[in-house]
Amino acid sequence: MQSNEIINEMKTVLLEKRNHLIERLEKIQSSKIRTEPLSADSGEQSIELENTEVVDALDEMEHKDLKLVNHALGRIENGAYGMCASCGEDISLSRLKALPFTPLCVHCAEEAAS
Ligand SMILES: [Zn+2]
Repeated sequence: MQSNEIINEMKTVLLEKRNHLIERLEKIQSSKIRTEPLSADSGEQSIELENTEVVDALDEMEHKDLKLVNHALGRIENGAYGMCASCGEDISLSRLKALPFTPLCVHCAEEAAS
């Protein structure tokens, strides 16, 4: 079990991160709208297409992060935050501070990555 103090601290971090992500996603959405329609010039057109692809990749990453943040906030709500979703051990404090929304302890994350 993590202490309430830690959980409250991480909750603040997660809420800030969520606000930040939502803001970024809104900006990405509005920049997407701005780049359409494509210009008639074919050279410019390909540049615009490339930009759209970059934005799409970014968009996906932000959505993924947002999901992880929401899951972590859900785990705070049901008291499972800070516990490894795989082995049930406490996730180390240094790991939580580096990756506030991680659901896995360092050992299980290493195992999952290998
Ligand atoms: Zn674990």
